[in-house]
Amino acid sequence: MHLMGGTIGLSSTGILHSLVNSFAETDAIMPVLFVGHGSPMNGIEDNEFSQYWKKLATEIEKPKAILCVSAHWLTKGTFVTAMEKPQTIHDFGGFPQALFDVEYPALGDPKLAEETSKLITSTTVGLDHDWGMDHGTWTIVRHMYPNADIPVLQLSIDYNQNAQYHYDLSKQLSSLRKKGVLIIGSGNMVHNLGMVAWNKITENYGFDWTLEMNEIFKNKIEDNDHTALIQYEKLSTSSLLAIPTPDHYYPLIYSLGLKEEKDTITFFNDKPMAGSLTMTSVRFG
Ligand code: ZN
Repeated sequence: MHLMGGTIGLSSTGILHSLVNSFAETDAIMPVLFVGHGSPMNGIEDNEFSQYWKKLATEIEKPKAILCVSAHWLTKGTFVTAMEKPQTIHDFGGFPQALFDVEYPALGDPKLAEETSKLITSTTVGLDHDWGMDHGTWTIVRHMYPNADIPVLQLSIDYNQNAQYHYDLSKQLSSLRKKGVLIIGSGNMVHNLGMVAWNKITENYGFDWTLEMNEIFKNKIEDNDHTALIQYEKLSTSSLLAIPTPDHYYPLIYSLGLKEEKDTITFFNDKPMAGSLTMTSVRFG
């Protein structure tokens, strides 16, 4: 199933052309995830969240590659990591040395990066050689695939654009699901660091508005009401408490954009944390 670059293939428009195509399309379709990543400490802790990430990996067919849309790579324009060996980025401060010592040695996949950039026709997607894997990606993926034997790419979030833009952009990546690529949106649905309850920082505690928004998000996801989720400011008077800035919410929008009609919807790690965060995650398909 692994086609090398330069082979001849049929494009979706039916025109015979030379493919620089890493992976062939198959009948099987990979699920799409939105994962609440929470504290970077989840990257090294054996806790209820990381345990579920491990379990999840055993339930999903082993991907040929992973494409992660992380809340922690915000750019002007859209980029995909295209290096052979993405670095492990320790993009946080004030955590134990053990967290800074983590290296996740997964390779990149420059061919898949090029293919991904070409799938998006609504804008020009740049091939990035500087970024790598930020903690929105590696804190999750190292639990799922500890052997680091699956190539990992990241797609950046153009932070000048709105939710509808990201939803529409995401849809253009749908064929990757048929090519064995596991796409992960990594953020948090409710994410207000300015209102964290520091005395409950490690507890599954949520403010009333956190719990309210968690239920609203889940109901809208279950109802496939993507329009409401795109227009998140209108969901409730609590919307802007849950999403004071949309960096951690946009990855959910990417995952929603990739949901196919027949995909099942499964929530996991459905818990509040530290008052103003939720770890609530969802699997489509
Ligand atoms: Zn984060």
